[in-house]
Amino acid sequence: MTTAETLKARLVELEAEIARLDGETTQQLSPKFADQANDLEELGTNEALEAHYKQEIEQITRALHRIEAGTYGTCENCGADINPQRLKAQPDATRCINCAA
Ligand SMILES: [Zn+2]
Repeated sequence: MTTAETLKARLVELEAEIARLDGETTQQLSPKFADQANDLEELGTNEALEAHYKQEIEQITRALHRIEAGTYGTCENCGADINPQRLKAQPDATRCINCAA
């Protein structure tokens, strides 16, 4: 798989995960108060997760734009190749480890 394909597959996964979380949060709260407290706690967790996923989607979208532009994996500051491990951890990295520091 190319990097773009890997990133697009991850995008699909993230969208599905967000759809699943949205489905859970629109469920009615349990009638019993004790259960309600649990539900609310879970709601908070889901929202945090969803925010996290949306952030990752933004990073991946930026990375895909860079792939299309042909600048992906190249440091925008010094022009060196960005370490593949670094790109894996942060797909939208635009600088090599030396320039990012
Ligand atoms: Zn650099």
